[in-house]
Amino acid sequence: MLSPLGHPLRHPLGHPTPHRGLFGVGLGALALTGALGACTVVEPLGADTDDNASEYLDDLASGAAGPSAASGGPSSGSGPAGTGAPGSACACDSDCAPLEGFAGVCVYGVCMTKASAACSSAGSTAECPSGSSCYGLQGEDGYLCWPDCSANACAGSCDADGACAPSDKTSCSYSCGSYCSCKDGDCAAGSTCMGGKCVTDTDVGDGPGPGPGPTCDNLPARDCAGDAATCGELVVFDPRTTAHYDDYPLNGETANNQYRSYLRRDLRMLLDYATAKVHCKSQGWPGNGGALGFGDMSESNGDVPGTSIGEPGHPKGTHTNGFDIDLGYYQVNTADNKLRPICENKDYHCTKAPHLLDTWRHALFLGTLFESKRVRVIGVDGQAGTMLVAALSELCKTGWVDPFACDHVKLAYETTDMGYGWYYFHHHHTHVSLCPGNTPCNNLTSSGAMEPLGPGMSFLPVKPNTHFFHFPTP
Ligand SMILES: [Zn+2]
Repeated sequence: MLSPLGHPLRHPLGHPTPHRGLFGVGLGALALTGALGACTVVEPLGADTDDNASEYLDDLASGAAGPSAASGGPSSGSGPAGTGAPGSACACDSDCAPLEGFAGVCVYGVCMTKASAACSSAGSTAECPSGSSCYGLQGEDGYLCWPDCSANACAGSCDADGACAPSDKTSCSYSCGSYCSCKDGDCAAGSTCMGGKCVTDTDVGDGPGPGPGPTCDNLPARDCAGDAATCGELVVFDPRTTAHYDDYPLNGETANNQYRSYLRRDLRMLLDYATAKVHCKSQGWPGNGGALGFGDMSESNGDVPGTSIGEPGHPKGTHTNGFDIDLGYYQVNTADNKLRPICENKDYHCTKAPHLLDTWRHALFLGTLFESKRVRVIGVDGQAGTMLVAALSELCKTGWVDPFACDHVKLAYETTDMGYGWYYFHHHHTHVSLCPGNTPCNNLTSSGAMEPLGPGMSFLPVKPNTHFFHFPTP
């Protein structure tokens, strides 16, 4: 049973009725967005009483059908049009020529055109002029028509899709280009240029200053050195709680029966390492500084959590065989870092910048996870993503995060509703997913687009943005 875009649908055998009024309201709203396609919800969460209510509707929308919101669009004729062909170098939007009615735009120093609508799939051509294909750009709103290297001279570099992408050597002016990095002095009062973005001071705040901080010699091993059977064996956290992580019972689990908390040994090792490292490095930083809360993983036989009680809490293809985990955000102004909404939210995503997010600790945590060659993709809320990108970029620049990790930021989110569902349900947790098998996945992406959350789901039609994290040594 597949949606028109080939996404596996949930619950082919029937649609459990949500137990809480909340779900009815939420689902109605979601259905209106069209983002869920024919997917439907699972849930009831058992007897847990914390505010994880919508919790394991989770990844629901990650199997969602196509885009729902248009963006960009053909030129409306305003402003002078430049003469730069797609793929040529630019400093300002006005350097770039329109093509077949599509407005020219300068993207980190390379001329492109704006797509007429959201990309119907990664690399689709229906929304673009000839000789280009449709993708978004990580951390940026809107959709772009990326020039094909086979059809255009490229001032940047050709990526895995054969698209002309900005390179380390291309850049443009923040004051006159829609997709350009800021420099000191470019941002309005009350905001700071961080990671190439003007970020509101109050949203992100000052960072920890120059790194790399404490040495942290006694961390648990990060990588699993065993064979495939050993590293892929489903295990549990033992002990369940330490100073740096807390695998507490939730979603109907009890302390004696944490049936939703089995994961691969390599993922357990990575999380033990990353949370221990954050705990060590971030002593004295603002925030509650407590252990990071862990949520759903898989059941003991590798099934989606909830399967054994007839209520699988995630779409088929994710949270199976211990490759995935949902975990809390590091937080400020809360007692702990359990899974809970970190923001004002509606329809399972943040509607404002998260006020409970410990941005710096969580960014450090993400940066530490990206040290691993086994991480495939990490999903966060779109509003949180913007802040985390800025903070992580700054932590890369100031030496807190390993350079390899900074070159392999596999962070996926939507800042606006692109219809791919990344931001649903991630208002109260982060989702970490490993590569299949037992091998590294070194590439930033396997196709030039961001990885989908689960197998059988489509690629998020968004290309990575190396301008956020890569700081070539002068
Ligand atoms: Zn998840």
